[in-house]
Parts: sequence; C-alpha cells; structure tokens
Amino acid sequence: MSKHVYNFGKGKAEGRAGMKGLLGGKGANLAEMTNIGLPVPAGFTISTEVCSYYYAHRRSYPTSLRKEVTSALARLEKTMGARFGDPANPLLVSVRSGARASMPGMMDTILNLGMNDFVAVGMAKKTGNPHFVYDSYRRFVQMYGDVVLGLKPAQKDEHDPFEVIIERKKKEKGVEHEIDLNVEDLKDLVRLFREAIKTRTGHDFPEDPAQQLWGAIGAVFGSWNNERAIAYRRLYDIPESWGTAVNVQAMVFGNMGKESGTGVAFTRDAATGGNVFYGEFLMNAQGEDVVAGIRTPLPISQLRKENPTIYGQLEKIRKVLERHYREMMDIEFTIQEGKLYMLQCRVGKRTAFAAIKIAVDMVREKLITSSEALRRIEPDQLNQLLRPIFDASKKANAIASGRLLARGLNAGPGAATGRVVFNSPDAEEWKARGEAVILTRVETSPEDVKGMNAAEGILTARGGMTSHAALVARQMGKVCVAGCGALEIDYVRRTMHVGGKVVREGDWISIDGSTGEVLEGRIATRPSEVVQVLVDKSLDARKAPVYQVYARVMAWADACRRLRVRTNADQPDQAANAVAFGAEGIGLCRTEHMFFGEGKIGRMREMILADTESERRKALGDLLPLQRADFEGIFEAMNGKPVTIRTIDPPLHEFLPHEEHLQRQLAGQMGISYEKVHQRVQGLHESNPMLGFRGCRLGIIYPEITEMQSRAIFEAAANVTARGIAVFPEIMIPLVGHVKELENQEAIVRKVATEVMKERGIRLKYLVGTMIEIPRGAVTADEIARVAEFFSFGTNDLTQTTLGVSRDDAARFLIPYVEQEIYRRDPFEVIDRAGVGALMQIAVAKGRSVRKNLKIGICGEHGGDPSSVEFCHTLGLQYVSCSPFRVPIARLAAARAALDDKPASPVRAHRPSRTNRRRTRRRKISR
Ligand code: PEP
Ligand code: MG
Repeated sequence: MSKHVYNFGKGKAEGRAGMKGLLGGKGANLAEMTNIGLPVPAGFTISTEVCSYYYAHRRSYPTSLRKEVTSALARLEKTMGARFGDPANPLLVSVRSGARASMPGMMDTILNLGMNDFVAVGMAKKTGNPHFVYDSYRRFVQMYGDVVLGLKPAQKDEHDPFEVIIERKKKEKGVEHEIDLNVEDLKDLVRLFREAIKTRTGHDFPEDPAQQLWGAIGAVFGSWNNERAIAYRRLYDIPESWGTAVNVQAMVFGNMGKESGTGVAFTRDAATGGNVFYGEFLMNAQGEDVVAGIRTPLPISQLRKENPTIYGQLEKIRKVLERHYREMMDIEFTIQEGKLYMLQCRVGKRTAFAAIKIAVDMVREKLITSSEALRRIEPDQLNQLLRPIFDASKKANAIASGRLLARGLNAGPGAATGRVVFNSPDAEEWKARGEAVILTRVETSPEDVKGMNAAEGILTARGGMTSHAALVARQMGKVCVAGCGALEIDYVRRTMHVGGKVVREGDWISIDGSTGEVLEGRIATRPSEVVQVLVDKSLDARKAPVYQVYARVMAWADACRRLRVRTNADQPDQAANAVAFGAEGIGLCRTEHMFFGEGKIGRMREMILADTESERRKALGDLLPLQRADFEGIFEAMNGKPVTIRTIDPPLHEFLPHEEHLQRQLAGQMGISYEKVHQRVQGLHESNPMLGFRGCRLGIIYPEITEMQSRAIFEAAANVTARGIAVFPEIMIPLVGHVKELENQEAIVRKVATEVMKERGIRLKYLVGTMIEIPRGAVTADEIARVAEFFSFGTNDLTQTTLGVSRDDAARFLIPYVEQEIYRRDPFEVIDRAGVGALMQIAVAKGRSVRKNLKIGICGEHGGDPSSVEFCHTLGLQYVSCSPFRVPIARLAAARAALDDKPASPVRAHRPSRTNRRRTRRRKISR
C-alpha cells in the first residue's frame, strides 16, 4: 500500500524540502523547517498523488486514505495534547493547498476548522477570551461557507454576501473595524452567516469536525481546477498533472489579543536586493488580514521596538533559513500569546535587479558558488542594469489610473518618456531645441534613421521583432515598442487614436520597451549606472555599486563561456559602445546603413538612378572615399578585433525618397527632371522586395558596386594598418542560395584585394565568407563551404524564408499565433528550433564536412536572445553577434549554456552539510 500522508511535528518530519513533487512546496518546506528545528506547528500533508487520483477517479480518494488521515489526526492530537471536537480541550486545524510551484492565492485555504457551538463555549471557558473565540468562529464559518459550501456572490459585480452582513453589523454598531465588534455581535455574525448559507445554498453548516475536515480536503483538491488556478497554470506553464497537496496543521492564533499577531517577510529586500529583513506584520490579526488590506500592516522594523524578543527570534530564523536554503526566502509567521511559529517558507520572488544583487552578495557571503550565481540570473534580467528604467511604483500608478494606452512588441528594452512627433525631421528639430521626443511612425525605413537617433524612443504601429525599427533601435540602444497594432496614426493631422483617446503631436507619452507598454503622459526614468560608467564615462566605477555588481557577474560569465560574442554595428560609436560591453569583434556591419550619413545619401541616390554603367561608376567613385572613411572609423574603434563587413543587401528603392516633395528636391539636387526621378523610383518598385533584387543579386548585376565596396574596405585596412593598428576584415556576401553566386562575388573581392595590396605594397589578412540565410544556402552548405571561409547565420531572413512569414508584416498575426501557441515564442525573437534550427544543424554539419574548422557564427537578431544563444552553443558555433546593448546578455547566456554542458553542481536546498547541520542545531530557536 503506498503512503499518502506525511506527518511533521515535534522536531521531526517524514518529508523534506526535496519532496516538492510529492508534498508540494508548502508541505515540503514545512517538513524541512521542522527537521531543522524551527518552531512549526505540527500537522500532516496529504500528497499530490492523491490529487491526481481524485481527478482520475471521479473525485474520490484511494481506499486507504481515510485510515491514514485518521491515524495522522490521532497522532496530531497526541502531539498537541488536544482533541478534535472536544469542547474541554479542542484541537483546531488549518487546511491549506500547496502545489509543487507556488501559485499564490490561486487555490483555497480554510482556517480554524474544528469549531462548532459546543467547541466555542468550551474554548471561551478555557482561554477566558471569548472575543478571540467567536472572532475565530465567525472567520471559520465565513471561509467554510465560501470555499466548501459555495456561498459566493451570484454575479461578478455583486458584493461578497458575508461582507454585506459584516458591513451591516458594523454600521448597526457604529464601529469601523470587525475587531471592534463585541462578543455578542460576533456570535450574531456566526448565526447570520449560518442562516445565509442555509437559505442561499440549502446546506446546513456541519457541526461534526470530521465532516468539516473531509469537506475542506475535497474543496482544496477541487480548487486545483478552479478558473483562477487554471489561468495561472497556463500563464506559468505549470502542468495540470502536478496536482496540489493538502496540508492539515494545528492552528496557532494571531488573533488572541495584544500579545498575538501575524506577519509576512522576506529574508532580504525583494525590491533592491539589500541584505535587510523586509516585511510587515499586524498584531491581533489572522493571516489573511495582512494581505487583505483591511487594516494597514506595520513594517517589520517596528516589531523590533514593540517586541524585541520576538524580533530577535525572527532575525535568527532569517539567518538559519538563508544559511540552510542558500536562498532569499519568503516567510509567514504567527505569534500566539508571545510565542513565535513558522507557517511557511519558500524561495522569495524578487525584482530582476534584486535577483542579480542577491546572487552576487551570496557568493561573497560564501553561501553559493559563482556558477550557482550565474544559474540564478536570467540573462534578460541584466536589462535592468543596462537600460533606463521607470520607477516601478510610478508606472504602476499610471496603469492603475487608466493611462495604459496599448501594448505592442517589446522590441528595444528600457524606458523612455517624451513628446510625440510623427516624422524624422521633426524628431531632429525638436531634439535640437532640447525636447525629449518619441518618434511615432506606422513603420520606419532607412530614411528615418536620423530621427530615430534623435529620439528617446521609437514607437511603430507595424513591423515585428526584426523589422527595421526594431533592429536599428536595438543597435542604437534606443527604447522601442514595435508592431503596436492599436495605434491609428494620421500623419496629416499629426494625431494618433489609441484606446479611445487622441494623442496629438507634442503630447507626452511613455513607452516601456521591456514590456511593450505604451502609456499616456510622462513617467520619470532613471539612467543606467553601468552605461554611465562604461559608455558615457560620466561616473567613476568605484562610486557605482550597481556597476560593481554587473562587473562581477560579467567576469564570472567570461570565465566559463565557450562562445565568443561579437556585435552588430555599423558606426564607430556603436562599435565603441559594444566594445565597452565586452564585444570581441563585429559580426555584422550592414554597409547600407552607412549610406545614410551626412553627404552620402545623395551620392547613393545618384548611383541608383544612373542610366549607364559609366554614370554609375562615377557616382560610386564619389562614394568610395566616404565609405573608406567609414571603414577606417570602424577598424580604429575595433582596434585589431575582427570585423565582418557585409556587402550591400537591401532592395535599392529603400534608398530613394517616396514622397513627391522629396523626389522634387532630389531632382533639383541632381539637375534632372522630377519626372525622371519619379519614373525611376516607380521602376524600382517590387511586389515582394524581400525576395526581389537584393543581397548578392545586386553585386552580381552591378559588379561595380562590390568592386567599390571591396576597394573601400581594403584601402581603409591598408590606411589603418599603416597607422599601426591591426585590422582583420571578413567580407561577407549576403543572401547566397547557390554556390555560383558566392563564386561570382568572391572573385571580385579577391581581385580588388590583390590590386590594393599590390598598389600599397602591403599584405592584408582577410576572409571571404557568406551569410546562410535562405534555405537553399543551408541545404547546399557543403558546396558553399568549398568557397566560403566562414558562415554567418542570418536568422532574420532564414526565419522569414523558412516559415514563409514576412518579417515586416508578421506582427498582426504572429501575436495571436503565439497566444494560441501555434508557435510558442515569436520565431523572429527565439529560434524556431524544429524548422530554422534544423536547417542550421544541416548547414553546420555539411559545411564542416568540407571545411573541418569552418568558422560559423550567427548575426540575426536571435544572436542576442538567451535561448537562441544556448541553441547556438549546442550547435557548436564559434560566436554569436548581437546589438551592442545585448552583448552582456549574450555573454551571460553563453556562460549558462557552457555550465549546462557539465553536470550541474547541486543547488543544495535540502540536506545541509554536516558542519551546517551542527551549526543549525546550535542555533535552534527555543520555542
Ligand atoms: C539576417 O537576415 O538575419 C540578417 C542579419 O540580415 P538583415 O537583417 O540585414 O537582413
Ligand atoms: Mg538578411
């Protein structure tokens, strides 16, 4: 016969912390706390297996359960020296749920069970405190009536029927709080509650404690499948099969008078991570009063003044728990007539910043190892250290007061607040006069780059996680909310309609690029200390405690990662930022982004609009020195680190102006007619530009473009080398599907390289490789690797072409797709391992079958996503490349992936070492 019930009490328990699967988190930790000598009221846990049985057998129990519960109850009675239902000396119990993962407030709890009219009379006599007794009794009837007998509001907006009765009574007696009602009033409440239960549910309130207990056990198991619990499980991916345990525990009372009370606390500050005791308490109250908000609880520091003995005991328990669990814990306690009891402990929830700080502090305190600290910090949590953030309470207030306008994609993390402008020139102009702006566009194009740079944040109505807005914003380190479909932008009226409101040019809005929220009005932001130290160099590292925490985590991460981390950057300042964040090279320099700089776009447009090769060559000749200077800037910033430069990739029409007045302006500059410009722009229009005339196709049809770009690269390399700075260019050909495409472009690059080296009398080391970003390239990677000296996965295009999903138009349906779990995560954010990942695996195997040590990396946006970084590690890539601000995140993700290669060093929460056990015993808290 298998065991279903596990006892705990008197310093001994049948369970332990490692048995969360069977006993649930609460049950397992009650057992653990009992075993380490903390003052836990005795009780027993009915296992989660019974819950599974209950649902598999039409809500019935295993036959042996009744016997087991009866004997556990008898044992509890013996331990407590009291009897269930005995008016002379009654035992009261609590019945609480407790699943393997914490699901706060989602399931049911019943306190003070075992009360009836006779027990109440007996208890009043025994304790001499009838007020406490009838207060407990009325609470019990209220909870039992609600949870077990089902007396709830009939409609969602109706008041709780018990609260209606209480309010009436308080009004009748002219008091503010329940606690001010006298004994007769409380007795009356019990009577009124029982009558209401009978009339509204048809159920008699059970007098028999055993019947009460089984009713409560059934209700707690039943609450595993209530609406709230189901929704919570969905949200946090908790399997239905886990089930809940039921904990039956002797009651201790916080509502026995002035010397009694109850509280909740964290062993450290859950918001800042500070090593201080953090929590609140209420005297003369029962557990739910602290959380219900009826009376305002006091900060735990006040307990030190009011009751130094109990506070001292709690302080000791705090230390014992942290040493034992080696974690920040969240506890619940009750003080009954001056005696302290522990009712719960679990690993405490905390902010991202607190998580990082606590992990680092615990290494210093020798509670955990640095590897354990790395495992405890989610890479994305580093955003809290790297980006400006909103004051959490101010944002919460804004949301509570109805200022949340909409939600879009969290495309560029951080917080930004500014005035709305609807076009790029305005963004620049407003910025120049000292205004903070949020550039708000339907979608962005390369023409908006300057405005994006001027803005604090970028908000778009269309576009996904790899849309132009998203990837340029990340590269610039700008906050971005993309694909916010709820925005109706009217460029002409300079307004947008959203969430039933009208936002006009100049109105303040705030955007949270970490959550995708768009809020009305101004919310103050706080700059990142790390950025101030590393990028702005405006803060001394020694005076920046947050930076110190960051630096320590990064040092540990670098010591164990195998993947190298590069950055996607095409401006010297971006490259310099990335190096400050630890980038070991550039993995993608998108040369087309360089053409939008001052004085370049005009030449570029002339080149595109040229009618003949010679006209085109002339325009390219003008572009050459400009492009060469750009590369020199990048090579200097990277100071000897490898730089992968991609030849031009996007469709040419992206460089041309689309609005009439801009086309007229261009015609004037070029001395040609508006009609000609217009006609040429129309001529370049494509129905499906992402699959059109772009990538290596441009250089194959116009070889002079590749020639010019190669010359600019090698001449820049020669110039910078002559200045004594090492240079390692890697020329990368985009959108290759057929080896012949690569052969064609490689020949041009090598020819120019040879020419420049000869002209300059210098030898330059360089590589020629390709992006693997369309499926044909991946599946013919063995052919391609005969030519390519390196591969870099362009997973933005590889995702788009593998899934047949346009990266610019996907937001509209991908958000519902993810909600419906067609894809579990946005495939433009996290690599779709089964599809895109499988192609990557093929490409790696085929590529290396031809070139054993083929260097392979990734430069799609996935290169900065922790789960994708882990995937790249398992594929055996050499590096990932991501936007500058994601470099630290990728470093940590790479380290965690490497740690997972080795068997995890045990995060021991359950069995202390011998020395610790001895220490713990010495520190036992006297009850
Ligand atoms: C890619 O496709 O993943 C890539 C890096 O190139 P782009 O985003 O510029 O197309
Ligand atoms: Mg691409």
